[in-house]
Amino acid sequence: MEHLINEKLKLHQAVSEFGSPVNIINFEEFFNNVSLFKEIFKSFDISGEVYFARKANKAKGLVIAARDGNFGVDTASGNELKDCIESGLGSEKIICTAAVKNEELFSLAATNNVCVIIDNLDEMHLAQKIANEKQVILPIGIRISGFKSNSEILYSRFGFPCKEVATLIKDIPQNFPNLVFKGLHFHLNGYSISERGDALQQSIALASQLQEMNINVEFIDIGGGFLMNYLQSKNEWFDFFNILKESILDNNKDEITFRKDSLGMVAHQGKLIGEPKVYPYYNELPAHEILRQLLNMHDNYNNLRNLNIQLRLEPGRSLLAQSGITVAKVAFRKYDMEGRLLIGLEMNRTQMKSSSEDFLLDPFHISQNNKVESEENLEAYLVGAYCLEQELILKRKIPLRSMPEIGDLFVFVNTAGYMMHFYESQAHCFDLAQNVILQNQGFILDSVYFEMNKPKVC
Ligand SMILES: *Cc1c(COP(=O)(O)O)cnc(C)c1O
Repeated sequence: MEHLINEKLKLHQAVSEFGSPVNIINFEEFFNNVSLFKEIFKSFDISGEVYFARKANKAKGLVIAARDGNFGVDTASGNELKDCIESGLGSEKIICTAAVKNEELFSLAATNNVCVIIDNLDEMHLAQKIANEKQVILPIGIRISGFKSNSEILYSRFGFPCKEVATLIKDIPQNFPNLVFKGLHFHLNGYSISERGDALQQSIALASQLQEMNINVEFIDIGGGFLMNYLQSKNEWFDFFNILKESILDNNKDEITFRKDSLGMVAHQGKLIGEPKVYPYYNELPAHEILRQLLNMHDNYNNLRNLNIQLRLEPGRSLLAQSGITVAKVAFRKYDMEGRLLIGLEMNRTQMKSSSEDFLLDPFHISQNNKVESEENLEAYLVGAYCLEQELILKRKIPLRSMPEIGDLFVFVNTAGYMMHFYESQAHCFDLAQNVILQNQGFILDSVYFEMNKPKVC
């Protein structure tokens, strides 16, 4: 990312060729992030596999990358699954965890021998029906939930209660003769390490109980949710919240967010209630070190090894660390009626959006001319193309070194995980942003890259 930001001409070339905004993706760090997880498997001497949770980024090139890098993809819809099959990714490298599964999806999985993670009994019956019609044996995993952590049961709307599921699994050969049980699966909400460690321990205990009943458990899949670090400075991160709170509570303080937006906290009787509803962008523990901790907890790695169970991960966001940027063009500058400088970008808010109240990374302003830095203290808000008062690309006030000019660029870094695609919409009939792969110094449209690299059918 740092490399690319310094190549001004290239960025301008990308925007003039593919429009604004443009999402640029590169595989180098993606591969590296997968390797870091794989090295942990190796260091514990356990069998493991990484499945990239594709819902974090829709670029099809990432599926080709998984195939070429010899790791897997977790699919959450029929179309995601179809891309994986078309890419030539082996069936053992594909897993399907879609939250809603229809006949079409089960048919696709059944004809291609793709392991499907079952969430409820209705799905199980549908899976059996389709596999029977196709006269195949469909591999399945069972999603479980209801783990105990900190003497509380973790709520989830997904999966079967882990305390009750053993009988269901034992009776699969009689009740669902076209399904074959392969392993257990969970994915926890939030980012707690101890909850994940507890859930892994309880999954291993269930697997051990099943193996005593002569049921083979090939894998335990612990889903994703590995935290990613976005920021360098711990002080900046904590200072920001202190200053934000001060600015909201004290009328004499300047705003640092648009019209003193509280990022999800509620001001009540001179106090702020709750915490800002933002992703924890600052993290000291890298994702693969979190995996190390999970394996060290409760002797989990030893138990996996002794039971000969493969550990599977489905990271989305953390695999995309350092793998993508979003670039947008400046369309106008103006001052609003209260004197704020607004920079209008050819972009809308859904083109860089997650469930976090704001993306707490500073953008980079790339000016066309090598302008002298301005003396004054320039601060601005970036606004987008939807016809709403609250259409801000970032809610934070952004310090600038010089006054942006029309045609200048703003670069948002580390947007590959969720930010690019998860909430993008086509309101106002705007085109969706183009996705391009940066490879060998050149840009290739993602869809073209996929067609070029998928196996040719004679
Ligand atoms: C969302 C999701 C993931 C990926 O989560 P990240 O936080 O992006 O790592 C993996 N597995 C399942 C089942 C999911 O729903």
